[in-house]
Amino acid sequence: MTVSGPVPPGTGWPEDPAAAGTPVAKDPAQVRALAAGAGSLAELAARQSVCRACPRLVQWREEVAETRRRSFRTERYWGRPVPGWGDEHPRVLILGLAPAAHGGNRTGRIFTGDRSGDVLFASLWRCGLAAQPTSVRAGDGQRLIGARMAAAVRCAPPANKPEPAERDACAPWLAAELALSADLRVIVCLGGFAWQALWPRLAAVGWAVPRPRPAFGHGAEVPVPWPHPPGTGRPADLLVLGCYHPSQQNTFTGRVNDAMLDDVFSRARHAAGL
Ligand code: SF4
Repeated sequence: MTVSGPVPPGTGWPEDPAAAGTPVAKDPAQVRALAAGAGSLAELAARQSVCRACPRLVQWREEVAETRRRSFRTERYWGRPVPGWGDEHPRVLILGLAPAAHGGNRTGRIFTGDRSGDVLFASLWRCGLAAQPTSVRAGDGQRLIGARMAAAVRCAPPANKPEPAERDACAPWLAAELALSADLRVIVCLGGFAWQALWPRLAAVGWAVPRPRPAFGHGAEVPVPWPHPPGTGRPADLLVLGCYHPSQQNTFTGRVNDAMLDDVFSRARHAAGL
């Protein structure tokens, strides 16, 4: 009988960034403090992966990990927040909405274990940003090349719909991820929610965010200047790219296809100098 329920930190799950003693945020104020105090992306990911600040999402992600989908009944689910994952010195950040209940919430790796991720990783591989064409589970040898992935909300939400308070509670994790990614050149937003969630976080870290906020669209490109003198934390300006989310609904209807994804990720790689 497979053990069910969320994975305790530091118990041998492949790529688990946390240990038994990793500090746990239990409310939004603690998220802010622990995110701001992380000294590296690795430490930040560890803290993200044990967060318990949103009661509704904690309850949901752990309930899903306990009950599981029938087709995955023989697997243990991760059942924790899905942390940022990828290169420790990323030049490209790929930002999504939130992990899927039976995808990232099951595998512990963002965009891994669902159809959206299959389409996404295949494109990243074709464009030279991923080492393998598939991402199946943590510990499968997949790695990102010069790129990192993160979700604006790091716990799987019911019906894929986080509430505004949950989005806001999770925001400091993203702001810290941006602040600790000193080599970052390009951000690709997968879908309008990620696009909307990004701008306030960029402003919080110090970038000159355009006003009014640019409209989301596939292939949209927005240069974002770093308005401070050289040596104040950022070496260069950013380019933000819009990309339709490779959800099943979007791929089945043809709203987005492989060639469209490849166009965006090739552009991202080129603009990042990779
Ligand atoms: S959504 Fe974000 S802030 Fe809320 S519990 Fe998950 S990781 Fe923590």
